[in-house]
Amino acid sequence: MTTLLYQTDSYLKKFSAKVIKLTANAHAVLRDQTAFYPGGGGQVYDKGIIEFNGNKSILKRAKYSPDGILHILEEGETLPEVGSEITGILDWDRRYKVMRTHTAMHILCGTIFRDYGALVTGGDMEPLKGRMDFEFKNLTKDLVAVIESAINKEVTAARDVNVAIQPREKALKIPDLIRTKINLLPLHIKEIRTIEIVGLDLQADGGTHVNNTSEVGTIHITDYKSKGKINKRLYIELEP
Ligand SMILES: [Zn+2]
Repeated sequence: MTTLLYQTDSYLKKFSAKVIKLTANAHAVLRDQTAFYPGGGGQVYDKGIIEFNGNKSILKRAKYSPDGILHILEEGETLPEVGSEITGILDWDRRYKVMRTHTAMHILCGTIFRDYGALVTGGDMEPLKGRMDFEFKNLTKDLVAVIESAINKEVTAARDVNVAIQPREKALKIPDLIRTKINLLPLHIKEIRTIEIVGLDLQADGGTHVNNTSEVGTIHITDYKSKGKINKRLYIELEP
């Protein structure tokens, strides 16, 4: 399995790794460790480049596989040899925007749970924009404005965002940890990573976040939609 460097240091922009396997048909490389996020839990995958022996190959995306994280190169890019050392360099501009967006989503999720007890039923995010579905009966324009003001208060409160990795049994005893209705925690996972926005939100999460809510910047709720009697969808955008 690949060591996931982004799980303990989401600000890692450049790293070294050893190539342990090539997957020719996918034009992909497996390494012993990576800082590239493979996508999942609603967070989009990372892009970047890998350098080796004077080559610069463009990484189309990182992707999860049962053997580890696949690093799929763009067509025509040179693959490194098995056993060679490579340097991975993230498309940091893109990743940092995704980190800000992911933390914004947790601010939204935490605020709505605190103020209305509403559960998340789904979500998706891209750099600087995202959408999140909640179990919410009556969502009005006025209420959306109240929510928008409440989440921006959490941004200006400059709350720290802490990452922890703990045994599954211990983590599952934390009240309200698993607040999404979709199961994001496959049974084979023995350790659970948690993201805490101090004083606001604590949840199991595998994604990358900023260190403090102040880094998110102003959050705009750009639209809302009814997705059925109970489910409502909120769309957010961040300022560049
Ligand atoms: Zn998350």
